[in-house]
Amino acid sequence: MNPPEAHPVDVTRPGAPAGAESAAAQEVLRRVFGYDSFRGDQAEIVEHVISGGDALVLMPTGGGKSLCYQVPALVRPGVGVVVSPLIALMQDQVDALSALGVRAGFLNSTQFPDERRTVEAQFLAGELDLLYLAPERLRLESTAALLDRGKVALFAIDEAHCVSQWGHDFRPDYLGLSMLHERWPDVPRIALTATATEKTRDEIIERLDLGGARRFVASFDRPNIQYRIEPKNRADRQLLEFIRAEHPGAAGIVYCLSRNSVEKTAAFLNENGISAVPYHAGLDNRTRAANQARFLREDGLVVVATIAFGMGIDKPDVRFVAHLDLPKSVEGYYQETGRAGRDGQPSTAWMVYGLNDVVQQRRLIDSSEGDAAHRRQLQLHLDAMLALCETVTCRRTQLLAYFGQTGQSCGNCDSCLTPPESWDGTVAAQKMLSAVLRLKRERGQSFGAGHIVDILLGKQNPKVLQYDHHELKVFGIGTDLRDTEWRGVVRQLLAQGLLAVHGDYGVLTLTEASQEVLFDGRQVRLRREPERAAKPARSAKSSKAAAAADLAAADVPLFEKLREWRGATAKEQGVPAYVVFHDATLREIATRKPASLAQLGAIGGIGENKLAKYGEQVLEVLAGG
Ligand code: ADP
Ligand code: ZN
Repeated sequence: MNPPEAHPVDVTRPGAPAGAESAAAQEVLRRVFGYDSFRGDQAEIVEHVISGGDALVLMPTGGGKSLCYQVPALVRPGVGVVVSPLIALMQDQVDALSALGVRAGFLNSTQFPDERRTVEAQFLAGELDLLYLAPERLRLESTAALLDRGKVALFAIDEAHCVSQWGHDFRPDYLGLSMLHERWPDVPRIALTATATEKTRDEIIERLDLGGARRFVASFDRPNIQYRIEPKNRADRQLLEFIRAEHPGAAGIVYCLSRNSVEKTAAFLNENGISAVPYHAGLDNRTRAANQARFLREDGLVVVATIAFGMGIDKPDVRFVAHLDLPKSVEGYYQETGRAGRDGQPSTAWMVYGLNDVVQQRRLIDSSEGDAAHRRQLQLHLDAMLALCETVTCRRTQLLAYFGQTGQSCGNCDSCLTPPESWDGTVAAQKMLSAVLRLKRERGQSFGAGHIVDILLGKQNPKVLQYDHHELKVFGIGTDLRDTEWRGVVRQLLAQGLLAVHGDYGVLTLTEASQEVLFDGRQVRLRREPERAAKPARSAKSSKAAAAADLAAADVPLFEKLREWRGATAKEQGVPAYVVFHDATLREIATRKPASLAQLGAIGGIGENKLAKYGEQVLEVLAGG
């Protein structure tokens, strides 16, 4: 499994020629990983770390962070030590590297002592290129002493935002990582994260003592992800239609807020012929781990999950991420949707949201622990998320702006593809707000949105009659809009801060800004509610087509044959399908139809090791064998 020569050029040796870093890095990229060229900042980062510099790398999910430390680890003498909190995924990472012929191992608490001793011995004997370590192991003096006795090429600190106490992924053990610099001042460190906000960045630099590190900040745009946000009516039905129309047979992640809705949604999908597994904190560890493993290994499984799922999942071919409930913040939304399309292939971030989401999130904030300042912070997060939902301009531009980056209208979000109309909602807003005001005046108590809409529509239902609300001046003044449209008005007024919602029953109240609309002639612009959910912006695709996107129709059968071969091979070896080959590699094979091992080796993602291991078999599949 080991390549004959893992370190082609020791460029850190005195007397190595200038520019040798990049030549050696290129060679490793081509020979081991099977790629022709580095992407974006990768080349510069790799060169910087090879020559011994510290680096802080901010790159979106799928941007290619792993190569930034894997290539230097292979070029520099010694073992690259990777600190990662994701112990459940270490085995897969090691498997993926082994498939490339890279010698990798890990140390974490899930191992038996004798397994651990084997890895330690390999490390000391210089038989590893990469060693994955759980952060808590570094706190043990025995681990530090082990590292002292071997040769460390570099430290990579993956998911570096875990050091941030404000982020949702805080790991106390990460605070101890400042010791790396004190104890091994000559070993270069590279910290990597996909969390973009400035505050997190500053915390990483301070807590990991990376003040002198070079910073590499990539664009956070994910051009292959299509962003869509639609009004929610029946979330499960809408989800089913979406999957059937656009991503049948593809792997996807569906996020729900509660465990209960996770279970229900997974069951609903299964009943309707879409294989799905649930994932939430209420399941026992075994079931959870098993469901995660199935998701990683099987082609085309859907996982329905609470946000507890997904960090570090590096399955490259997740074709869609769906939100059935509103995320709490734009950061969360970005992280979660970012799990789609790491392989750079077309993918969809799809969400439905409605008035109840706003009410529910508001309630969570009201009942949250912590002081007023903390609640205020949560409210600001929610406001930014609502603004993204209600925007009439490009979603991507707004998303990037949130992270301090600029962009142009993208042509690949619902706002760009089917520009929403806006309308003058001033009169509608006045009607709604005066109804809220009147109920407050006349009763000394307040009512939820549904009741107020009924009044505006002039519905003589029992509750209206019970409170004599059919006698109000505002009764029946809103028949020009439909029920769903009124709910849209309420939702947008909430998003714009022109209404507020409180308490367990979603009671509506006026804000200071409401007064401006009611009495000072302030204009209100609203986004028009579509008659029904917007049509899929990309044309509906045939089954499995998502994975086959961009293939000529004539090549699809061959691609499917290659996928079948890959599935069988992966199963035989007990590894995820993508460890054998990525979709993008299979697609290129199906298109170029290489006739020899040499031609096959020129395809992206096929390095020496994979060529030797699978080359003949792939050529047989191509020959129709
Ligand atoms: P991240 O860790 O930043 O989310 P990965 O390191 O998993 O991203 O890389 C994402 C995908 O891009 C992987 O499928 C990887 O093989 C591919 N990739 C990364 N760098 C290159 C490159 N230079 N050329 C071709 N593919 C690349
Ligand atoms: Zn756009």
